[in-house]
Amino acid sequence: MLGNFTYCNPTKLYFGEQALDRLSGELENYGPQVLLVYGGGSIKRNGLYVEITAILKQSGKKITELPGVMPNPTVDKLYEGMELARKKKIDFILAVGGGSVIDYAKALSVSVHCESDPWERYYLKMRRINNPVIPVGVVLTMVGTGSEMNGGAVITNTQTKLKIGRVFGESVFPKFAIMNPKMTYTLPQYQMVAGFYDIMSHILEQYFSGTDDNTSDYVMEGLLKSLIHSSLAAIEKPQDYEARSNIMWIATWALNTFVAKGKSTDWMVHMLGQAVGAYTDATHGMTLAAVSMPYYRCIMKDGLPKFKRYAVQVWNVDTQGKSDEQIAAEGLTAMEAYMKKLGLVLHLGELGVTEAMLSGIVKGTFILNGGYRKLTPEEVENILRESM
Ligand code: NAP
Ligand code: FE
Repeated sequence: MLGNFTYCNPTKLYFGEQALDRLSGELENYGPQVLLVYGGGSIKRNGLYVEITAILKQSGKKITELPGVMPNPTVDKLYEGMELARKKKIDFILAVGGGSVIDYAKALSVSVHCESDPWERYYLKMRRINNPVIPVGVVLTMVGTGSEMNGGAVITNTQTKLKIGRVFGESVFPKFAIMNPKMTYTLPQYQMVAGFYDIMSHILEQYFSGTDDNTSDYVMEGLLKSLIHSSLAAIEKPQDYEARSNIMWIATWALNTFVAKGKSTDWMVHMLGQAVGAYTDATHGMTLAAVSMPYYRCIMKDGLPKFKRYAVQVWNVDTQGKSDEQIAAEGLTAMEAYMKKLGLVLHLGELGVTEAMLSGIVKGTFILNGGYRKLTPEEVENILRESM
């Protein structure tokens, strides 16, 4: 049964090879002072920087650059951006990059006019927004997070070793996102497949919860089948436009809030992955890949009907003469084989996690109610140990 909900997604998308042509039209809606936010330089190497700055100049904008947004953006970087944006009286933020750059731009958009410390107000205390928000536009270069069409903004405090994902409301969703699948072709294979798994994890975090008959579960099964098909094609031929364009679209639908409406969700894999990320700065999708199998095997019996359904609907597991538990377990085995085929990292040791970090990572893991049940801290530790 669908629970009650309100649904509004205010982000306008421009999708396809010519999508960037629509940027100048969008820029007309905003003031002259533009903060151009980007990462470590991939946009300079692939030519996008030159194209975008030319469009900004033709549109009569005054550009202030904020480069160097790192993967897993930090609170210190947020403070740096706040100071710059205040000094330059920024009207509009243009984020060019992947989830880290977009998340950062969104966090910055609510922080610039915040009268207290935004890390404390909006992350530690999760308070509602009580100040003006600077509008954000996006040019997407990496597929995975869905950040281009949601209000999420994950920020890491490297001193206190906390990585927190805040989900803001409509005022923080990007005003528009430009999505040309070809802009993702220059991604290294490691980042590309990490993004693929981030997408899968977003879907599973919303799928593995509840036993009711819910339309979203059917939608998610379709998204998963399409993702598995296209990701296997993309690792064979990374410049397969059909595959890469489908994956870009799946990533957006996986986390633009649509499939979560009216149903319960899990999100424990992300809580574990983020705690690992705070300690290691490892690639987000890989942290999720490393903890997923031990987590799902731990909760499988609690959500057995859904795990069985997953095995049959998504992995085509043959049910003849098998118990529900066998079928569900075979589904997870098929998923693990797929993850290996993609070349995902399945062990935390390979992401720089050491024995000495484990107790801190356990403490840094926010234990949610979970899709089927709440883990104990001991189980969190066991899952992390098994993931090593
Ligand atoms: P990312 O951290 O934005 O980017 C990873 C790397 O890929 C960077 O080194 C970046 O280099 C490079 N890159 C990006 N586009 C490229 C391109 N076209 N060609 C070559 N290299 C390129 O990766 P992400 O997975 O998209 O974002 C991860 C962050 O998002 C994490 O902090 C995670 O926790 C968060 N997240 C957010 C949400 C949400 O809903 N908002 C959901 C899940 C995760 P440059 O820096 O040089 O550009
Ligand atoms: Fe994610």
